[in-house]
Amino acid sequence: MPHTLVDNSKLWENVLVEIELAVSKANFSTWFKGTYISKQEDGVVFVSVPNAFVKDWLNNKYHNTILKILRNFSEQVRALEYIVTKDDGKKREVLDSHKPSITQSNTELPLHDFYINKDDNLNPKYTFDNFVVGPFNELAHAAAQAVIRKPGVTYNPFFVYGNTGLGKTHLTQAIGNHIKNTHPGKKVYYMTSEKFTIEYMNAVSINSQKVNQFKERYRKYDVLIVDDIQFFAGKDKSQEELFHLFNSLYENNKQIIFSSDKHPNFIPNLEERLKSRFGAGMIVDIPNPDMESRLAILRSKTLQNNVPISPEALEYLASSVEGSIRELEGILNSVICQFQLKNVELGLNEIKNLIKNSIKPKKSVAIKDVVKIIANFYQIEEESIYDKTRKKEVVKPRQVIMFLLREDFSISYPSIGEKLGGRDHTTVIHSCEKIKEGLKTNNILAQEIAEIRTMLL
Ligand code: ADP
Ligand code: MG
Repeated sequence: MPHTLVDNSKLWENVLVEIELAVSKANFSTWFKGTYISKQEDGVVFVSVPNAFVKDWLNNKYHNTILKILRNFSEQVRALEYIVTKDDGKKREVLDSHKPSITQSNTELPLHDFYINKDDNLNPKYTFDNFVVGPFNELAHAAAQAVIRKPGVTYNPFFVYGNTGLGKTHLTQAIGNHIKNTHPGKKVYYMTSEKFTIEYMNAVSINSQKVNQFKERYRKYDVLIVDDIQFFAGKDKSQEELFHLFNSLYENNKQIIFSSDKHPNFIPNLEERLKSRFGAGMIVDIPNPDMESRLAILRSKTLQNNVPISPEALEYLASSVEGSIRELEGILNSVICQFQLKNVELGLNEIKNLIKNSIKPKKSVAIKDVVKIIANFYQIEEESIYDKTRKKEVVKPRQVIMFLLREDFSISYPSIGEKLGGRDHTTVIHSCEKIKEGLKTNNILAQEIAEIRTMLL
């Protein structure tokens, strides 16, 4: 592999662009402001952060995401470390640093207060006890309960899908932890589809003996959890391998659990035979949490963290953050920070002040306004968006509109279709996927969408 030195600030800039697209505005400015790469040594990237709190948070919550993105840009990156740095303008003074464990190529570093078990990759912090059940996720929860009662029998495979930050990893690992604790003889294993792919490709690149070892290893599990299966899309060889593994486990009544950000039918480039296997079990989704559930989650987490907060303040928080549970946790962390500074019960005013700058007020969006702004942005006639026209200069803005209505305003696919000139919901889904895919590689598109987002605030 050629040894190319990647400029630190350029590299970090690229990473931040991707992260900004992946996390909420509140989280992005809370956790990534003032960060930069201070150095790279032996494949270890050292990221400077303004304080220990940010360090812990990045380590706990964004570590794998950052590492993954870094590796996309620079193959030499092996590990990632955070350094608390006091930034006095010019001179950057390193206050605290850790010896990096560069021998460990595993991306799953131990979490702050819990250790991931190396044998099964499970994080013990994910349990049913701290999993709040509300109308939005009760179906997924009920199915998970059925799985733990009779692993391998009732719902096999169990497939759970939904947007990021809604509890897929938590729920699937809770299943794993439960079975592990109640059936000590059963071998449970958790992994991301990415890890599976990397390990498989590594084995292939060595020799057939390694490939056989790989196959044997996975076939011995009683419960196999494969998280974020959408990453398999297009990876033919490892999909093939997964298919064989799946059959072998399935025939032996071993429980298989998958998660994905979308329904298997909408994962592009996923083999038909895999899709139909998934369909033979139980497929459930976790949608965005409703108001009651958001309130319950906030209540549970403030209790867990011993943060006194008035009921009105809690309600205000729950109604302001309508996104994922990960976003709820993000804002809750600023609340905890605030409480630690002031050490008094937080009332409505404190909370209002606190989130004034970090969350955009949720408005009931007028779709017409969004169409108008975006049509203007691309300098096309507003009316053409509603038309049947398939001219290139209209198709893309229309797709962007659909994408943003879905992503940022959580409007359902069918109603987006209906409001934009009576289109079928599958067209809307396709458009959203198209833009999502485009965002991965097309920087111009990413910039356009970032600009449009600021106009929609
Ligand atoms: P996903 O895998 O869908 O992206 P995660 O499982 O990582 O989402 O969840 C994001 C965060 O929200 C995690 O910290 C998780 O513990 C928390 N979380 C998710 N669902 C719940 C829930 N129902 N109750 C409590 N916390 C939850
Ligand atoms: Mg997850």
